[in-house]
Formats: sequence, C-alpha cells, structure tokens
Amino acid sequence: MEIKVKNCMEAFVFEALENALKSYPDVCKCDKCIADMAAWSLNKLTPKYVHSDLGDTYVRLEMYQKQHYTQVINIVAQAIEVVSKNPHH
Ligand SMILES: [Zn+2]
Repeated sequence: MEIKVKNCMEAFVFEALENALKSYPDVCKCDKCIADMAAWSLNKLTPKYVHSDLGDTYVRLEMYQKQHYTQVINIVAQAIEVVSKNPHH
C-alpha cells in the first residue's frame, strides 16, 4: 500500500496569492513570479500535512483557513512585495 501525504498550505497559498494579486495590477504575474511568491510564502508558513484522502483534506483545509487566514494573507502580501522588487527574469 502506498502512503501519501500532502501539504494543505500549498493549495491555500496559491488561492490566497491569486486573490491578493488582484490588488496589485502592476506586479508581474508570470508563472515564474507566482512560483517564487508561493515558494517564499510556503517557506515562512508552517506546513499543514494531511494524508491524501481528499474529503478529509478539504475539511482540514477549511478549518485551517479560518484559523490562520490573516497570517497567510499577511505572508502572501510580503511575498508579493519581495518578489516584485527582485523578479528572477
Ligand atoms: Zn514574472
């Protein structure tokens, strides 16, 4: 049997980034910059690993979102500032 875990924060960070970037019309939103912002954010945030049962994942992710929403939004905003000042291209 194969055992898999995934980090819930990844999906959450991408979602938060997508929403936050709507407020930054002048920031580059190419794949490379978005990946840089996501990686920067995920390095600052505590990972939230769950097993790969999909239903369970989404229940836990929802709980986690409510609990840490403000923190994640703040980190994502910082990531946008940092990466947009030093784009890797
Ligand atoms: Zn870019």
